[in-house]
Amino acid sequence: MQLALIVVWIGSAILLIASHFVDADVKDGFRGYKVYRLTIQSQRQLDLINRISEDVDQKGLTDEVDVWTELPRVFSPQRRNSFTALILLSPEKQAAFLETFDSESISHEVTIPDLAVAIEEESRFSLEDTRAVENGGMTWTAYHRYSTMVSWMDSLRSRYPDLVNEKVMIGKTYEGRNMYLLKVGKPRADGKMKPGIYMDANIHAREWIAGATLTFMVNKMVTEYETNSTARRMMNEIDWYIVPSANPDGYEYSHAAPNNRLWRKTRRVNPFSTDTGCDANRNFDFKWMVAGAVQTPRENTYAGAFPYSEIENVHVTEALLALVPQVKGMLSFHSAAQMWLLPWAYGYERSEDYDELMRVGRAATDALTAVYGIPYEVGTAPDILYRAAGGTLDWAKAKAGAKYSYTPELRDLGFGFVLPPNQIIPSGLETFEAVNVIAQAIFEEFGPTLN
Ligand SMILES: [Zn+2]
Repeated sequence: MQLALIVVWIGSAILLIASHFVDADVKDGFRGYKVYRLTIQSQRQLDLINRISEDVDQKGLTDEVDVWTELPRVFSPQRRNSFTALILLSPEKQAAFLETFDSESISHEVTIPDLAVAIEEESRFSLEDTRAVENGGMTWTAYHRYSTMVSWMDSLRSRYPDLVNEKVMIGKTYEGRNMYLLKVGKPRADGKMKPGIYMDANIHAREWIAGATLTFMVNKMVTEYETNSTARRMMNEIDWYIVPSANPDGYEYSHAAPNNRLWRKTRRVNPFSTDTGCDANRNFDFKWMVAGAVQTPRENTYAGAFPYSEIENVHVTEALLALVPQVKGMLSFHSAAQMWLLPWAYGYERSEDYDELMRVGRAATDALTAVYGIPYEVGTAPDILYRAAGGTLDWAKAKAGAKYSYTPELRDLGFGFVLPPNQIIPSGLETFEAVNVIAQAIFEEFGPTLN
């Protein structure tokens, strides 16, 4: 009896997906698309949403239905008695899916009533944004293009030459854009090597808040060196290495047209496939393809045909390897889940430093939450969500000696990837506090100099 019910239910879930898809293509810049927040309160409900997520990804139908929230596989009431998940539904899919959610007692509320409007608002520039000149045109009240991020780096370097030590071209992207590594920090008078922290963002193109938050924090450290004791200590004690966009081609593509707004991958043309790009955060050569990645180019977690198929990852890797043994921390910023993830992501094994990484991660998110009350979860991806191999997080710890390696998943607030630009500064201010805690922990552990 029980088995029969389950079979009928799974059958209807498949039918729901199969019967409503013909051909998927974003229409009219997501006009009429809605984002819903679902409340999941049982394993059965979780299974249904995970099944929808996997099915639309496998079929390449995420233009019509897309589960934005990374969800665990196992419902564990001892950890949480409910989960929320954001789901994007095209106008054609809304009625059928809501009916299913109702029949499965999954409560839902609209968080974005029209995604096209949200994208328009998100991409709007105020007069101050368009007129800004002093930061190379960069502001933190709008989301800027990659070229503006580069101008900002140049501007910062010319205005603060004693704090912004280097801007190094680390290589060209697949489409020919220059990738840069910015080094900031107050050099020691004795010339000795300080501990280093590497930070990057936007390896996932659509997660715009990641690069905006990272550049905000770096700008704050540099420009407030004279006036803010926290910024000054961070700059005095640590050398910071910054790649503001680890996937500039994908980032630019996500800006180029409203229909592209949810692009996550790189822009490499895959041989023998009409689907473009791969998930660069599954493409690093450590436990590649062990878990949480696929070999199907159309899917969002396509790991590439082989490790380092993506030239951008080669550049990031070579830049980081050149910083061994200085770099003791790595932060690769993502959104949007309000989580602070630590290694290992590939499997359930504990790293030898697990307890320390948990302690420092908890202290960092406590400091973050203290600013605006935004709650964060801390832990390994398999503990909180599921396994995912081949990302910056594991690679930097295993191969580049970055003991304190983290993947922060920044604020979401029901907007998912389309976070309004008025959230950039709050996100920057709260995340700055977390980064400060990690910098202090590294300074205390490794001391003021490494040689
Ligand atoms: Zn991401």
